[in-house]
Amino acid sequence: MPQTLIIGAGITGAALAYQLSRRGEAATLLSTHAEGGLASAASFGWLNASYYLNHPHYRLRHEGLAAHRRLQDQLPGLPTTWQGCLWYEATGDAQEETATDLTALGYKVDRLTRAQVAERLPSLGPVPDTALFFPEEGVSDPALLARALIAASGAEVMRATVQSLTEEAGRLTGVLTDLGPVPATRVILATGTGTPALLQSFGYTLPMLKRPGLMIRTNPLPPICPVVLATPDQEVRQDAQGHLIAPASAGHQSDHAEVLGAFPVVVNATLQRLRALFPGQEIHFAHQAMAMRPVPGDGLPVVGQGSIEGLWLAVMHSGATLAPVVAECLAEEITGGPESQLLKDFRPERF
Ligand SMILES: Cc1cc2nc3c(=O)[nH]c(=O)nc-3n(C[C@H](O)[C@H](O)[C@H](O)COP(=O)(O)OP(=O)(O)OC[C@H]3O[C@@H](n4cnc5c(N)ncnc54)[C@H](O)[C@@H]3O)c2cc1C
Repeated sequence: MPQTLIIGAGITGAALAYQLSRRGEAATLLSTHAEGGLASAASFGWLNASYYLNHPHYRLRHEGLAAHRRLQDQLPGLPTTWQGCLWYEATGDAQEETATDLTALGYKVDRLTRAQVAERLPSLGPVPDTALFFPEEGVSDPALLARALIAASGAEVMRATVQSLTEEAGRLTGVLTDLGPVPATRVILATGTGTPALLQSFGYTLPMLKRPGLMIRTNPLPPICPVVLATPDQEVRQDAQGHLIAPASAGHQSDHAEVLGAFPVVVNATLQRLRALFPGQEIHFAHQAMAMRPVPGDGLPVVGQGSIEGLWLAVMHSGATLAPVVAECLAEEITGGPESQLLKDFRPERF
């Protein structure tokens, strides 16, 4: 009988399986989707702390970057790179305010002139008067990273769908799946947008926002975008094969839209913006991936012990950035370590 069952094989479940295995705790992963998850497979994969909702959120995100580096030290060859982000989502006074706030927090920020931007990005059409460069930031492919972490953890993976959690005398006893019951003494929900439905059987409501995201991949191009580029109306990066990867909405991490427009219209508008950014390039559509972002009601992660003994939760947006550090802290707590100071503002009880 598995002692520890992690539901969900996206980046969150994978990082947890890996961190538990490092602490000598074998876990079984159980997931509807294959290793690599759901939101994780549609993610932009931008690793950053320049976007944050409050100071504890900044600290967690910043430590998230360090946790990614620790993973790279432990497991060479992971799909994570540190090219930095060239940012001018805000301009003028608002850009300077961002620079001042981040610098005060200790984040590395370089202020770039128009000439410096043009030098770094010679293919860029419209060059802004000023921009910020965040050298600590990078990119990972959360689905590939999840697969690598699951392999390194040695965890068994079961393909099944959990229909409900089972309990006896106020203690979790396992889960009921479409393939039958699976007993466990500890269940960790790393189920992203699937979490509220599973908690409902205990009368527990986890509010989640409805935030669809569409990611577009173009044909391979010559190297034209050596950084994560964040402009007022488009974010974009280029992968190792030369494809541009671009969310269909600007400022996608703070995107409040509850619906996407018609796909052909949205895809075409994104391609038009990419062509305007990189004039003279033959930019065409190659692939799209769509997923709901797992955003808890207040936008912040939900991590810690659930409402019943044996139940743990790890649900978060910006999981590409956050999953490695959340997994480190939560695995420590689960295996009897002290309560994490980094996680204390993100507990499930706040709902
Ligand atoms: C378009 C888009 C862009 C994004 N961009 C960024 C970014 O640039 N930077 C960043 O940091 N984050 C970004 N994110 C967020 C980040 O990708 C997610 O927070 C992260 O991937 C969540 O990972 P997860 O493992 O928690 O969830 P998922 O990857 O969604 O995995 C959930 C897992 O749970 C399983 N599951 C759910 N319910 C059940 C059930 N009942 N039974 C069995 N299995 C179940 C699923 O099968 C799946 O394996 C983006 C997300 C999207 C969608």
